Amino acid sequence: MFKGILIEKDDGGYRAALTDISEDSLPEGDVTLDVSYSTLNYKDGLAITGASPVVRSFPMVPGVDLVGTVQDSRDPEFKVGDQVLLNGWGVGEVHWGGLAQKARLQGRWLIPLPSAFTPAQAMAIGTAGYTAMLSVIALEKHGVTPDKGEILVTGANGGVGSFAIALLARLGYAVVASTGRVAESDYLKQLGAAEIIDRATLSEPGRPLAKERWAGAIDSVGSHTLANICASTRYRGTVAACGLAQGMEFPGSVAPFILRGVTLAGIDSVNRPREDRLEAWARLASDLDQSLLPLISHEIGLSEVLEVAPQILAGKVRGRVVVNLAR
Ligand code: NDP
Repeated sequence: MFKGILIEKDDGGYRAALTDISEDSLPEGDVTLDVSYSTLNYKDGLAITGASPVVRSFPMVPGVDLVGTVQDSRDPEFKVGDQVLLNGWGVGEVHWGGLAQKARLQGRWLIPLPSAFTPAQAMAIGTAGYTAMLSVIALEKHGVTPDKGEILVTGANGGVGSFAIALLARLGYAVVASTGRVAESDYLKQLGAAEIIDRATLSEPGRPLAKERWAGAIDSVGSHTLANICASTRYRGTVAACGLAQGMEFPGSVAPFILRGVTLAGIDSVNRPREDRLEAWARLASDLDQSLLPLISHEIGLSEVLEVAPQILAGKVRGRVVVNLAR
């Protein structure tokens, strides 16, 4: 038996509980892991509370990220004792995820834990940091270099936002951070933000085109915020859209795309090909200032997950939550 969070949905309703799970009930897969660390992402908060239909198969162990040690493997690429890392691939949604002490997964979903990081550090980064890195790479691939001008990061106090600021600032970009929590400005400045703006300036319906300001943007918020960012992005700038914290809709206009040549770059981390994952994690190893990790993240035990999950949805959690499966 091992401990884990199990989500069930039946006539008794939708519920998540910390429980003892039998190893026999692990799903199909060619690699079995002892999970050491996982995380609590926004999506895990949705899954655990049932606030949005993230979980598509029941019962489900949530947790879209994990680091573990291979206990058993039928995949030639991984042998017993290897430390591996997983982000996404529908884990925690359609296949049992990281918020349990054991996991059985497909070997092709796994990458080796980068030697630059301990398991806890890799989970401090997690899907949020990996998605921020994918977003930075997207800006670079569209020619947004530091000399082009200011980069806007929205959802700044969140996981993706925090890493986007830290990565961009380290690479020499001038970063403007948009947040609903301006009281956390000191934190955002420590990450490298040059200026903080109130997210209320972006969240209401705006004009199709506004004064050009941003050379690029990383947006984890969506909705009117994304539309307003596009409207104020400079000629041939790029906006990396990776989230929906404000909303799923995109109430915008094509004007920025057809009149200013703005690029809207969609960022998906879940089904991302393995080469892109290896590239992003290699870049995290080289470009992230690891001394910021204790500032961005804090650790909780598996036993605290159910209590913290709703706080993430309420926007009360700053940065990243690392989950230690041993406690
Ligand atoms: P967090 O909960 O850590 O951060 C979200 C942040 O968004 C909050 O901290 C808050 O920042 C801001 N925010 C919350 N509610 C609103 C609102 N109503 N209007 C405007 N801003 C708001 O989540 P993550 O950083 O982990 O994820 C951010 C988003 O990105 C989520 O929507 C998530 O689903 C998505 N995501 C997508 C991925 C992909 O593959 N495309 C991968 C990972 C995440 P502040 O307090 O500073 O305003």
